[in-house]
Amino acid sequence: MKRIAFFCIPAHGHTNPMLPVAAKLVDRGNTVRFYSFNEFKSKIEATGAEFISCDSYIAKLTKREEAELKNVSITEMTVQGIRTTLAMDEFFHNEFLSFKPEVIYTDSICFWGKLNAWKHGVPMVVSTSTFAFNQMSSQYMKNSLKELADMIFGLPKISKELRKLKSYGYHVRSALSLVQSDNNTDSIVYTSRHFQPYAESFSKHYAFVGPSVFSKDEPEKEKPRPLVYISLGTVINNRPDFYSRCIEALKDQDVDIVISCGNVMDREALGILPENVKVYPYVDQLGILSKADVFITHCGMNSISESLYMATPPVLYPQTSEQRAVARRTAEIGAGVMLNNDSVQGIRSAVQEVLNNTGYRISAKECSVDFRSCIGATGAAEFIENAPHPSEGVDVLGEINKANGKFQFIYWLSIIIMIAFIGVFLSRKYMWIVSIVGVMLSLPIGRCVQKKRYNAIIKKINGKKNCC
Ligand code: UDP
Repeated sequence: MKRIAFFCIPAHGHTNPMLPVAAKLVDRGNTVRFYSFNEFKSKIEATGAEFISCDSYIAKLTKREEAELKNVSITEMTVQGIRTTLAMDEFFHNEFLSFKPEVIYTDSICFWGKLNAWKHGVPMVVSTSTFAFNQMSSQYMKNSLKELADMIFGLPKISKELRKLKSYGYHVRSALSLVQSDNNTDSIVYTSRHFQPYAESFSKHYAFVGPSVFSKDEPEKEKPRPLVYISLGTVINNRPDFYSRCIEALKDQDVDIVISCGNVMDREALGILPENVKVYPYVDQLGILSKADVFITHCGMNSISESLYMATPPVLYPQTSEQRAVARRTAEIGAGVMLNNDSVQGIRSAVQEVLNNTGYRISAKECSVDFRSCIGATGAAEFIENAPHPSEGVDVLGEINKANGKFQFIYWLSIIIMIAFIGVFLSRKYMWIVSIVGVMLSLPIGRCVQKKRYNAIIKKINGKKNCC
């Protein structure tokens, strides 16, 4: 029986998966203190955990900062996370003295949880509500130009904030070390090993406990005609243009359509609705997915998990880099179709493709069975109670890094020799061309080498397992 402190940012998608884990830990006789925000108070108290409000430490935002956060700016999120940590410094200093937590369970992007665990030397387990991202799995995230520009131009601002952290006794190597998964940190990931990209590159410090879905209901798809459910989640959902195109694409098809459009958008913007279309600000998503045959989704991790849990193949319409990673993985396992063309015709074809091709349904069903066989909240609670976990097994990432180091050395040596050769024996003007091509090819070739090395290591490990 332990004293366990939970930390989370003010977001439903991050808080929700931690709740059944808190409830299980309390049931098992542990004392859980949950540092969160008033909006989540009743949900948290329902688990039996003690709720502690952190609302007064959230900085007042300027209009520009608020807009940046709404646009999911990584720079702004990092800066605000660090500022909140500094504002909470004294409060947590006193809390750690009085509560004396033996384990910290913190959301993966809740900086104040991670930084205080490091500062006070308390064993930490990280709660990861999306995929776990390391150098291999983050290849699934394709950043848009806007996101890349935000990260590059935001670096000086982030460095300034990181320096402030040091003066408060928080030692951080880089902003990346605050967010990226590493192989020495105990982590709980709310998906299955099968669905996690490059799952084998994660060490024994990772527990893939399966999606945190509150219903144990089985899908029930029997009905007179197919049901198409459409939602872009709870954050960026003010898209009347997109919903209108969906309605136009599907109104004459033999299907029923339910749209959850969020409570910001004015439903009048969609005009008079055809008889087969229903629009709501918010719905019981799991209940609808248990009956739905297609889900047009923005690919939030929770929405995709719930869709596959209920064996509903999705049409994938990601809007952020993280959602693009989730979408890519779903398409890769054959459970969904990417909506590359969001015109009326494009939407109609994608929905028809899912409805007419049983392959998607079969893959989604397999995923449902896989998710339901995971260790769930009970497994997560045990994992937290037993933290810190020892390091054991092959360090796949370390092996990949070694191979990458060798590759980088040989690659750049070859480029330098080639440039020198061209400069001496041909013409100087070609040296530039070779340099530029060399830089441009280094990343894709490097990734190819990493993938090959990964596959070779996994083959070797599996070979050994099969031998024993
Ligand atoms: N949700 C719901 N009803 C709705 C819309 C969304 O219950 O009408 C829930 C959905 O079940 C999911 C969460 O809101 O658990 C959305 O999380 P997700 O990670 O998919 O996307 P986000 O809203 O964070 O972008």
